[in-house]
Amino acid sequence: MTFLRARPPYPPRLTLARTGTPLEPLPRTSAALGVEVLVKRDDLTGAELTGNKVRKLEFLLAEAEEQGADTVITCGGEQSNHARATALAAAKVGMKCRLVLRTDDPAAPPAATANILLDVLAGATIRWISRPDWRQRNELMAEEAAAVTAAGGRPYIIPEGGSNALGAWGYIACAHELADDLATFPTRPTTIVHATGSGGTGAGLVMGARLAGLHERGVRVAGVNVCDDRAYFVDVVTRICAELTQRWTLPVTIGPDDVDIVDGHVGAGYAKSRPEELATIRDLCRRDGLVLDPVYSGKAFHGLVTELARDPARFGERVVFVHTGGIFGLFPTAAAFAPLL
Ligand SMILES: *Cc1c(COP(=O)(O)O)cnc(C)c1O
Repeated sequence: MTFLRARPPYPPRLTLARTGTPLEPLPRTSAALGVEVLVKRDDLTGAELTGNKVRKLEFLLAEAEEQGADTVITCGGEQSNHARATALAAAKVGMKCRLVLRTDDPAAPPAATANILLDVLAGATIRWISRPDWRQRNELMAEEAAAVTAAGGRPYIIPEGGSNALGAWGYIACAHELADDLATFPTRPTTIVHATGSGGTGAGLVMGARLAGLHERGVRVAGVNVCDDRAYFVDVVTRICAELTQRWTLPVTIGPDDVDIVDGHVGAGYAKSRPEELATIRDLCRRDGLVLDPVYSGKAFHGLVTELARDPARFGERVVFVHTGGIFGLFPTAAAFAPLL
Protein backbone atom coordinates (compact mmCIF):
# COMPACT_ATOMS: atom_id res chain seq x y z
CA MET A 1 0.00 0.00 0.00
CA THR A 2 1.37 3.35 -0.90
CA PHE A 3 0.30 6.71 0.39
CA LEU A 4 2.37 8.59 -2.11
CA ARG A 5 0.76 10.48 -4.90
CA ALA A 6 2.13 11.57 -8.21
CA ARG A 7 4.22 14.59 -7.40
CA PRO A 8 3.64 17.76 -9.36
CA PRO A 9 6.60 18.84 -11.47
CA TYR A 10 8.81 21.01 -9.29
CA PRO A 11 10.26 24.31 -10.49
CA PRO A 12 14.00 24.25 -11.27
CA ARG A 13 16.07 23.76 -8.15
CA LEU A 14 19.69 23.86 -7.02
CA THR A 15 21.12 21.44 -4.49
CA LEU A 16 22.07 23.48 -1.41
CA ALA A 17 20.36 21.74 1.51
CA ARG A 18 21.21 18.33 2.95
CA THR A 19 17.74 16.90 2.70
CA GLY A 20 16.10 13.75 3.65
CA THR A 21 16.50 15.25 7.13
CA PRO A 22 15.80 12.73 9.92
CA LEU A 23 12.46 12.40 11.71
CA GLU A 24 13.38 11.48 15.26
CA PRO A 25 11.44 10.60 18.41
CA LEU A 26 11.80 12.63 21.61
CA PRO A 27 11.10 9.87 24.12
CA ARG A 28 11.42 11.68 27.43
CA THR A 29 9.77 14.86 26.17
CA SER A 30 6.87 12.76 24.80
CA ALA A 31 6.44 11.14 28.23
CA ALA A 32 6.57 14.52 29.97
CA LEU A 33 4.03 16.13 27.61
CA GLY A 34 1.69 13.14 27.35
CA VAL A 35 1.69 13.13 23.54
CA GLU A 36 4.01 11.47 21.05
CA VAL A 37 6.47 14.11 19.82
CA LEU A 38 8.66 13.56 16.77
CA VAL A 39 11.08 16.15 15.47
CA LYS A 40 11.85 16.82 11.80
CA ARG A 41 15.49 17.82 11.94
CA ASP A 42 15.61 20.71 9.48
CA ASP A 43 18.35 22.12 11.71
CA LEU A 44 20.44 19.48 9.94
CA THR A 45 20.07 20.88 6.42
CA GLY A 46 23.69 22.00 6.81
CA ALA A 47 26.22 23.25 9.34
CA GLU A 48 26.52 26.90 8.34
CA LEU A 49 23.89 26.78 5.58
CA THR A 50 21.49 25.44 8.20
CA GLY A 51 17.78 25.69 8.87
CA ASN A 52 14.61 26.21 6.88
CA LYS A 53 15.79 29.05 4.61
CA VAL A 54 18.14 26.79 2.68
CA ARG A 55 15.23 24.75 1.36
CA LYS A 56 13.64 27.92 -0.03
CA LEU A 57 16.92 29.19 -1.47
CA GLU A 58 17.27 26.06 -3.61
CA PHE A 59 14.35 27.33 -5.71
CA LEU A 60 14.97 31.07 -5.39
CA LEU A 61 18.61 30.93 -6.42
CA ALA A 62 17.80 28.56 -9.29
CA GLU A 63 15.55 31.30 -10.66
CA ALA A 64 18.26 33.91 -9.99
CA GLU A 65 20.74 31.83 -12.02
CA GLU A 66 18.20 31.29 -14.78
CA GLN A 67 17.76 35.06 -15.04
CA GLY A 68 21.51 35.58 -15.22
CA ALA A 69 21.70 37.41 -11.91
CA ASP A 70 25.10 38.09 -10.35
CA THR A 71 23.95 39.77 -7.13
CA VAL A 72 21.22 38.74 -4.69
CA ILE A 73 19.55 41.24 -2.40
CA THR A 74 17.50 40.42 0.65
CA CYS A 75 16.46 41.84 4.04
CA GLY A 76 15.87 40.84 7.65
CA GLY A 77 16.43 41.58 11.30
CA GLU A 78 20.00 42.13 12.50
CA GLN A 79 20.53 38.47 13.42
CA SER A 80 18.49 37.20 10.47
CA ASN A 81 18.99 33.50 9.75
CA HIS A 82 17.58 34.08 6.30
CA ALA A 83 20.14 36.82 5.55
CA ARG A 84 22.98 34.57 6.74
CA ALA A 85 21.76 31.62 4.69
CA THR A 86 21.40 33.86 1.63
CA ALA A 87 24.91 35.34 2.08
CA LEU A 88 26.47 31.89 2.33
CA ALA A 89 24.40 30.37 -0.48
CA ALA A 90 25.25 33.32 -2.74
CA ALA A 91 28.96 32.77 -2.07
CA LYS A 92 28.51 29.09 -2.80
CA VAL A 93 26.99 29.73 -6.24
CA GLY A 94 29.40 32.58 -7.05
CA MET A 95 27.05 35.52 -6.64
CA LYS A 96 27.46 38.70 -4.65
CA CYS A 97 25.05 39.52 -1.85
CA ARG A 98 23.65 42.77 -0.45
CA LEU A 99 21.72 42.68 2.81
CA VAL A 100 19.30 45.30 4.16
CA LEU A 101 19.18 44.68 7.92
CA ARG A 102 17.07 46.29 10.63
CA THR A 103 18.67 47.58 13.82
CA ASP A 104 17.86 50.06 16.61
CA ASP A 105 20.46 52.62 15.62
CA PRO A 106 21.86 52.33 12.08
CA ALA A 107 24.56 54.88 13.00
CA ALA A 108 25.87 52.46 15.64
CA PRO A 109 25.31 49.03 14.10
CA PRO A 110 25.79 45.86 16.16
CA ALA A 111 29.14 44.07 16.31
CA ALA A 112 29.77 41.35 13.75
CA THR A 113 28.89 38.37 15.93
CA ALA A 114 26.90 35.17 15.32
CA ASN A 115 24.85 35.44 12.08
CA ILE A 116 26.31 38.87 11.26
CA LEU A 117 29.82 37.46 11.47
CA LEU A 118 28.86 34.81 8.93
CA ASP A 119 27.24 37.44 6.68
CA VAL A 120 30.42 39.47 6.44
CA LEU A 121 32.67 36.42 6.37
CA ALA A 122 30.78 35.37 3.23
CA GLY A 123 31.45 38.81 1.73
CA ALA A 124 27.93 40.22 1.93
CA THR A 125 27.60 43.98 2.24
CA ILE A 126 25.18 45.24 4.86
CA ARG A 127 23.00 48.33 4.69
CA TRP A 128 21.72 49.04 8.22
CA ILE A 129 18.23 50.54 8.45
CA SER A 130 16.10 51.74 11.35
CA ARG A 131 12.88 50.15 12.59
CA PRO A 132 10.73 52.90 11.01
CA ASP A 133 12.55 52.44 7.68
CA TRP A 134 11.78 48.71 7.79
CA ARG A 135 8.31 49.56 6.47
CA GLN A 136 10.04 50.69 3.27
CA ARG A 137 12.17 47.55 3.03
CA ASN A 138 10.90 46.65 -0.44
CA GLU A 139 11.65 50.14 -1.77
CA LEU A 140 15.08 50.07 -0.13
CA MET A 141 15.86 46.71 -1.74
CA ALA A 142 14.72 48.15 -5.07
CA GLU A 143 17.20 51.00 -4.49
CA GLU A 144 19.97 48.47 -3.90
CA ALA A 145 18.93 46.68 -7.09
CA ALA A 146 19.08 49.97 -9.03
CA ALA A 147 22.60 50.57 -7.68
CA VAL A 148 23.65 47.08 -8.83
CA THR A 149 22.19 47.68 -12.29
CA ALA A 150 23.84 51.13 -12.54
CA ALA A 151 27.18 49.45 -11.82
CA GLY A 152 26.61 46.99 -14.66
CA GLY A 153 25.44 44.08 -12.49
CA ARG A 154 22.29 41.95 -12.56
CA PRO A 155 20.32 41.98 -9.32
CA TYR A 156 17.82 39.43 -8.00
CA ILE A 157 15.64 40.43 -5.05
CA ILE A 158 14.53 37.83 -2.50
CA PRO A 159 11.73 39.04 -0.21
CA GLU A 160 11.84 38.86 3.60
CA GLY A 161 12.38 35.29 4.76
CA GLY A 162 12.40 34.01 1.17
CA SER A 163 8.65 33.81 1.73
CA ASN A 164 7.06 34.01 -1.68
CA ALA A 165 5.38 31.27 -3.68
CA LEU A 166 8.63 30.09 -5.31
CA GLY A 167 10.42 29.85 -1.95
CA ALA A 168 7.47 27.95 -0.48
CA TRP A 169 8.32 25.03 -2.80
CA GLY A 170 11.08 24.24 -0.32
CA TYR A 171 8.43 23.27 2.19
CA ILE A 172 6.25 21.49 -0.34
CA ALA A 173 9.34 19.33 -0.78
CA CYS A 174 9.63 18.93 2.99
CA ALA A 175 5.97 17.81 3.18
CA HIS A 176 6.70 15.16 0.57
CA GLU A 177 9.64 14.02 2.68
CA LEU A 178 7.41 13.89 5.74
CA ALA A 179 4.89 11.76 3.84
CA ASP A 180 7.68 9.24 3.23
CA ASP A 181 8.96 9.53 6.82
CA LEU A 182 5.51 9.00 8.33
CA ALA A 183 4.74 6.01 6.10
CA THR A 184 6.85 3.96 8.54
CA PHE A 185 4.76 5.07 11.54
CA PRO A 186 1.22 3.94 12.41
CA THR A 187 -1.44 6.35 11.13
CA ARG A 188 -2.86 8.52 13.88
CA PRO A 189 -4.16 12.07 14.23
CA THR A 190 -1.05 14.18 13.85
CA THR A 191 -0.18 17.87 13.72
CA ILE A 192 2.93 19.26 12.08
CA VAL A 193 3.88 22.19 14.34
CA HIS A 194 6.41 24.85 13.30
CA ALA A 195 7.46 28.42 14.02
CA THR A 196 6.00 31.09 11.72
CA GLY A 197 7.99 34.28 11.12
CA SER A 198 7.30 35.34 7.54
CA GLY A 199 4.88 32.61 6.43
CA GLY A 200 6.68 30.78 3.63
CA THR A 201 7.40 27.65 5.62
CA GLY A 202 3.77 27.46 6.72
CA ALA A 203 2.44 28.03 3.20
CA GLY A 204 4.67 25.28 1.78
CA LEU A 205 3.70 22.83 4.52
CA VAL A 206 -0.05 23.53 4.23
CA MET A 207 0.02 23.15 0.45
CA GLY A 208 2.47 20.24 0.60
CA ALA A 209 0.39 18.33 3.15
CA ARG A 210 -2.50 18.38 0.65
CA LEU A 211 -0.40 17.53 -2.38
CA ALA A 212 1.33 14.67 -0.57
CA GLY A 213 -1.95 13.15 0.66
CA LEU A 214 -0.97 13.75 4.29
CA HIS A 215 -4.17 15.63 4.99
CA GLU A 216 -6.24 12.53 4.12
CA ARG A 217 -4.17 10.57 6.61
CA GLY A 218 -5.21 12.84 9.46
CA VAL A 219 -2.16 15.08 9.37
CA ARG A 220 -2.77 18.79 9.98
CA VAL A 221 -0.37 21.75 10.00
CA ALA A 222 -0.19 24.45 12.69
CA GLY A 223 2.16 27.43 12.83
CA VAL A 224 3.04 29.17 16.09
CA ASN A 225 3.59 32.82 15.21
CA VAL A 226 6.69 34.44 16.75
CA CYS A 227 5.67 37.98 15.70
CA ASP A 228 2.58 39.80 14.40
CA ASP A 229 -0.69 37.93 14.93
CA ARG A 230 -3.04 35.24 13.68
CA ALA A 231 -4.98 37.43 11.24
CA TYR A 232 -1.76 38.67 9.65
CA PHE A 233 -0.39 35.17 9.02
CA VAL A 234 -3.68 33.64 7.90
CA ASP A 235 -3.67 36.33 5.23
CA VAL A 236 0.01 35.85 4.28
CA VAL A 237 -0.21 32.05 4.10
CA THR A 238 -3.49 32.11 2.15
CA ARG A 239 -2.03 34.56 -0.35
CA ILE A 240 1.16 32.56 -0.91
CA CYS A 241 -0.93 29.40 -1.39
CA ALA A 242 -3.21 31.18 -3.88
CA GLU A 243 -0.16 32.17 -5.90
CA LEU A 244 1.15 28.59 -5.78
CA THR A 245 -2.19 27.26 -7.06
CA GLN A 246 -2.38 29.82 -9.82
CA ARG A 247 1.18 29.95 -11.07
CA TRP A 248 1.80 26.20 -11.12
CA THR A 249 -1.86 25.16 -11.66
CA LEU A 250 -1.84 22.94 -8.59
CA PRO A 251 -4.95 20.82 -7.93
CA VAL A 252 -5.45 22.29 -4.45
CA THR A 253 -7.00 25.54 -3.22
CA ILE A 254 -6.24 26.75 0.31
CA GLY A 255 -8.67 29.08 2.07
CA PRO A 256 -8.30 31.00 5.34
CA ASP A 257 -10.08 28.22 7.25
CA ASP A 258 -7.38 25.78 6.19
CA VAL A 259 -4.66 27.83 7.91
CA ASP A 260 -4.12 27.14 11.63
CA ILE A 261 -2.06 29.84 13.34
CA VAL A 262 -1.53 29.29 17.06
CA ASP A 263 -1.46 32.82 18.45
CA GLY A 264 -0.72 34.06 21.97
CA HIS A 265 2.92 33.03 22.27
CA VAL A 266 4.80 36.05 20.92
CA GLY A 267 5.48 36.95 24.56
CA ALA A 268 7.80 39.93 24.99
CA GLY A 269 8.03 40.44 21.21
CA TYR A 270 10.01 39.26 18.21
CA ALA A 271 13.48 38.07 19.22
CA LYS A 272 12.76 38.88 22.87
CA SER A 273 12.73 35.92 25.23
CA ARG A 274 10.91 35.46 28.52
CA PRO A 275 12.63 33.32 31.18
CA GLU A 276 9.97 30.60 30.79
CA GLU A 277 10.79 30.28 27.08
CA LEU A 278 14.47 29.86 27.87
CA ALA A 279 13.58 27.33 30.58
CA THR A 280 11.66 25.30 27.96
CA ILE A 281 14.77 25.31 25.74
CA ARG A 282 16.88 24.16 28.68
CA ASP A 283 14.44 21.40 29.66
CA LEU A 284 14.21 20.02 26.13
CA CYS A 285 17.97 20.01 25.84
CA ARG A 286 18.40 18.19 29.15
CA ARG A 287 15.62 15.68 28.45
CA ASP A 288 16.40 14.71 24.90
CA GLY A 289 19.59 16.52 23.86
CA LEU A 290 17.82 18.71 21.30
CA VAL A 291 18.93 22.36 21.04
CA LEU A 292 16.39 24.97 19.89
CA ASP A 293 16.96 28.64 19.12
CA PRO A 294 15.33 31.36 21.22
CA VAL A 295 13.88 33.46 18.37
CA TYR A 296 11.87 30.83 16.45
CA SER A 297 11.96 27.16 17.32
CA GLY A 298 12.27 27.70 21.08
CA LYS A 299 9.44 30.21 21.16
CA ALA A 300 7.26 27.91 19.06
CA PHE A 301 8.08 24.90 21.20
CA HIS A 302 7.21 26.87 24.31
CA GLY A 303 3.89 27.71 22.63
CA LEU A 304 3.36 24.02 21.94
CA VAL A 305 4.04 23.10 25.58
CA THR A 306 1.73 25.88 26.81
CA GLU A 307 -1.11 24.81 24.48
CA LEU A 308 -0.76 21.16 25.54
CA ALA A 309 -0.96 22.14 29.21
CA ARG A 310 -4.30 23.84 28.46
CA ASP A 311 -5.67 21.23 26.08
CA PRO A 312 -3.80 17.91 25.75
CA ALA A 313 -5.86 17.05 22.64
CA ARG A 314 -5.09 20.32 20.81
CA PHE A 315 -2.75 18.66 18.30
CA GLY A 316 -4.20 15.14 18.20
CA GLU A 317 -2.19 12.11 19.28
CA ARG A 318 1.10 12.99 17.66
CA VAL A 319 3.09 16.14 17.08
CA VAL A 320 5.70 16.43 14.37
CA PHE A 321 7.71 19.46 15.43
CA VAL A 322 9.71 20.96 12.57
CA HIS A 323 13.05 22.15 13.93
CA THR A 324 13.66 25.04 11.55
CA GLY A 325 17.22 25.74 12.75
CA GLY A 326 18.54 29.06 14.03
CA ILE A 327 21.36 27.75 16.24
CA PHE A 328 23.45 30.92 15.84
CA GLY A 329 20.67 32.92 17.52
CA LEU A 330 21.40 31.06 20.74
CA PHE A 331 24.78 32.59 21.38
CA PRO A 332 23.79 36.28 21.65
CA THR A 333 21.40 35.23 24.48
CA ALA A 334 24.01 33.68 26.77
CA ALA A 335 23.58 36.33 29.47
CA ALA A 336 19.81 35.81 29.63
CA PHE A 337 20.31 32.06 30.04
CA ALA A 338 22.88 32.38 32.82
CA PRO A 339 20.41 32.57 35.77
CA LEU A 340 18.64 29.42 34.51
CA LEU A 341 21.70 27.22 34.28
C1 LIG B 1 12.83 32.20 9.38
C2 LIG B 1 12.75 31.16 10.44
C3 LIG B 1 11.52 30.56 10.79
C4 LIG B 1 10.21 31.01 10.22
O1 LIG B 1 9.99 30.59 8.91
P1 LIG B 1 9.09 31.49 7.95
O2 LIG B 1 9.09 30.76 6.69
O3 LIG B 1 9.79 32.82 7.88
O4 LIG B 1 7.75 31.63 8.58
C5 LIG B 1 11.52 29.57 11.73
N1 LIG B 1 12.66 29.18 12.33
C6 LIG B 1 13.86 29.73 12.03
C7 LIG B 1 15.04 29.26 12.78
C8 LIG B 1 13.94 30.73 11.07
O5 LIG B 1 15.12 31.27 10.79
